[in-house]
Amino acid sequence: MPQRFLCDRMLLRLARWLRAAGYDTTAADAHARDRDILADALSEGRLLITRDRALARHRYADGAVVVISGDRLAEQSASLGQQVAIDWQHNPLSRCLICNVVLNLAEPGAVRPMAARPPIRTCPTCRRLYWAGGHETRIRRTLASLSGEG
Ligand SMILES: [Zn+2]
Repeated sequence: MPQRFLCDRMLLRLARWLRAAGYDTTAADAHARDRDILADALSEGRLLITRDRALARHRYADGAVVVISGDRLAEQSASLGQQVAIDWQHNPLSRCLICNVVLNLAEPGAVRPMAARPPIRTCPTCRRLYWAGGHETRIRRTLASLSGEG
């Protein structure tokens, strides 16, 4: 079972890239209290990734919270990587970057934007389309650079 994550509100960008790498990654609700965020992480079996040191001092935080530093994505991913084994090539572009749900393969002949080449994947929740050659190329490049290959 691959690692699952919950990111705090300061780490929405990092959350998006963890999804791009294929990790099941949710984000904390905007107004959730610390203890509720931690409770969600524990009940869903997610590792809580946060910038908030106070959260890590919570009595149930042991082994459930990773505090990372840095404002830029590269700094945050490096900080995370020092504490958790992250494979940025885990399962690229298998999830919607926005909704975190697993993408479906679009049926041949279904919605097909101009210039899109199959395979085209769709998000069952927001209906966004993902296809090779779209922004997928840029996403794969960023994932490669996060892996230290860029
Ligand atoms: Zn979506």
